Amino acid sequence: MRDDKVQCQCCGKWMVPRPIFSRGIWSNGWWVGGGRVIGSICPFCLDEDWDGVERVHRGVLFKTLALAISVFLGYVYVFVSLIPVHIINDYFDHQPSIKEYTTWLAAALIFGSIYLGYRTYKWLVNTTKLPL
Ligand SMILES: [Zn+2]
Repeated sequence: MRDDKVQCQCCGKWMVPRPIFSRGIWSNGWWVGGGRVIGSICPFCLDEDWDGVERVHRGVLFKTLALAISVFLGYVYVFVSLIPVHIINDYFDHQPSIKEYTTWLAAALIFGSIYLGYRTYKWLVNTTKLPL
């Protein structure tokens, strides 16, 4: 029994990792079927990263899905952020001086959106804690 215990890298206690199961809940907007072991936690501090290793228990499928969601949201961010640019252009009746300004604004907004999409991907992949 002693051999089953491992030291938690978060709280330093010796413990037997407790498996956690999916419960068939909405998680990050996706329906997850219940009953599957999705990871393990330290019973003392309830931390998933008890082994001190960066979690990569999201499968390739999940990462692909996360990437697809992020790219889609990236497009949404671009679309939404460009609305004021179109409004400004229309309001000033596409005057060249304004157009130059809005082109730079649009470029900045697109870069901002790409960054937001990237952050979304990181957030999706790194959000390992499910609501329990
Ligand atoms: Zn712990």
